[in-house]
Amino acid sequence: MDKFKVTVFCETAWDDSVAPVSYELTAKASDLVKNIENSEVQVLIVGKRMNYDDIIESFSNYGADKVIIVNDDIFENYSANLYRKAISEILKKEKPNVVFFGATVKGRELAPLVATTLNTGLTADCTELDIVDGKLEATRPTFGGKLNATILCKTLPQMATVRAGVFRVPENPVKKDTKVNFDWVNVHDEEKFTKILELIPEYADDDNDLSKAEIIYAGGRGMKSKENFNRLFELARLTGGVVGASRGAVDAGFADSSIQIGQTGKTIHAKVYVAFGISGLAQHMAGINSCDKIISVNKDSNAPIMKLSDIGIVGDAEEIIKQMVRSLKNK
Ligand SMILES: Cc1cc2nc3c(=O)[nH]c(=O)nc-3n(C[C@H](O)[C@H](O)[C@H](O)COP(=O)(O)OP(=O)(O)OC[C@H]3O[C@@H](n4cnc5c(N)ncnc54)[C@H](O)[C@@H]3O)c2cc1C
Repeated sequence: MDKFKVTVFCETAWDDSVAPVSYELTAKASDLVKNIENSEVQVLIVGKRMNYDDIIESFSNYGADKVIIVNDDIFENYSANLYRKAISEILKKEKPNVVFFGATVKGRELAPLVATTLNTGLTADCTELDIVDGKLEATRPTFGGKLNATILCKTLPQMATVRAGVFRVPENPVKKDTKVNFDWVNVHDEEKFTKILELIPEYADDDNDLSKAEIIYAGGRGMKSKENFNRLFELARLTGGVVGASRGAVDAGFADSSIQIGQTGKTIHAKVYVAFGISGLAQHMAGINSCDKIISVNKDSNAPIMKLSDIGIVGDAEEIIKQMVRSLKNK
């Protein structure tokens, strides 16, 4: 019987750090194949590094049976066409049943390129994955988030992209005895369609990291103004929380899109999520489903978010935030 293989593409950033979604997908893949006899979770790394020991160690902690490394000077800087070629060549050799990419900027570019090169299908932006009788069941929101569609692919490999934070890495992972294979592909500089002139690190506000926050205060269109919205930062500072926003608040110009939560924003796992002036439509709720406690403040007791909250407070968001800040300062 052929081995049932799941390959996870390992995404690295410009500073060589591994994107957390690659660990999340490896752990998920390991869980998905745990009842499949003769199965293997592979991680595919394309890049240029002196040493891969730390990466291999991390992936073995998250359940990788094998790490395949294509290491060459030519991969020092990301080039979509070279990476596409390298990944496709390795996948043609390995013939995995299933392939996962993070739905990151790079993953969203690479996965469709690889899928078309391999003449197979791809389900993008999945929120749930399962493998039943060897078939990948990839679920993703559709019709503007009103329906969830579970999609199967007739051809191999069955490919999917998943956004960061949809799956969590296990708290007590089981370490595997991971095999390491160095491989090689024949690619040339002329196959690069773009030239990198300068690398500019993405601006990140380390003090407002939604991915790790335990308490998140999010504002929506009901915050009414940027000035009101900015009071959430004061509330967050006083309580050790961070600030997020609905698309309504982003579209109204109250908040930056980098802190948008939801289907087209970030997925969060806070212990406490407090929503001020957010109606709670499906696309927003898609990003907060796995929060432990949801508290909402809305002037409309019939707003959809009220039914989905552990605690619903009917009132004016601006007034309640002002009172919270005042009492925290007077403590
Ligand atoms: C393909 C697609 C993707 C999308 N992706 C996302 C996404 O990632 N994230 C996201 O958030 N949305 C997303 N949306 C948009 C989503 O459908 C909603 O339009 C959006 O979430 C609404 O934002 P809101 O709740 O802030 O605004 P509204 O729906 O306008 O709600 C405002 C709420 O504030 C309340 N309110 C008004 N005044 C006050 C007050 N003074 N005090 C207290 N409450 C008050 C109102 O009662 C209301 O419930 C997406 C939509 C589509 C089609």
